[in-house]
Amino acid sequence: MRLLQEAALEASTCTRCRLSQGRTQVVYGVGSPSADLMFIGEGPGYHEDKQGEPFVGAAGQLLNQMLAEIEIAREDVYINNVVMCRPPGNRDPYPDEIESCKPWLDERIALIEPSVVVTLGNWATRFILGPRTSISRVRGQRFPWNGRTVIPTFHPAAILHGGGQASSQMAALRSDFQEIRRALAERPEPVEEQLGLF
Ligand code: URA
Repeated sequence: MRLLQEAALEASTCTRCRLSQGRTQVVYGVGSPSADLMFIGEGPGYHEDKQGEPFVGAAGQLLNQMLAEIEIAREDVYINNVVMCRPPGNRDPYPDEIESCKPWLDERIALIEPSVVVTLGNWATRFILGPRTSISRVRGQRFPWNGRTVIPTFHPAAILHGGGQASSQMAALRSDFQEIRRALAERPEPVEEQLGLF
């Protein structure tokens, strides 16, 4: 299998869907290529499109805050989105755009092999758990998926546009991050480490 860097280079010139026409640049993903924990958001916004990195705007600040609360460094996780190019005016991505971008995300998951995948909001959650999933019903639960654990939670932007830091959604987000921390602590050890015991 090729390296993440090689995949990112090829993705940087992708024209598989109409979103390529309005983008400043492809926002591939950021973080550790061997991360145990991956976050999947919806798609780049204004700041992400300009800077070429996911979750650098206000929603990213809240994601950073949540990571800090469970004592995990942003550099140690991998952060990416369902679509790599900014939808105009931050509209929701269309189903054919998600479909066109799917092989890129599938490849990132296969290359990084995270044991825990956190889906942020409805779009990412539906991408993994199916089109009829509702984030408010499934958030905070663990779902087995292709040998990994998926934990859906609210999108940080939904908290910012909703009740903010004092809201019940924020309390739910906090509690879901504690569940993420527990799931990571309980994951099976990699095979090399198990062998090292003997
Ligand atoms: N919202 C997302 O879903 N992704 C980003 O990268 C930024 C904001």
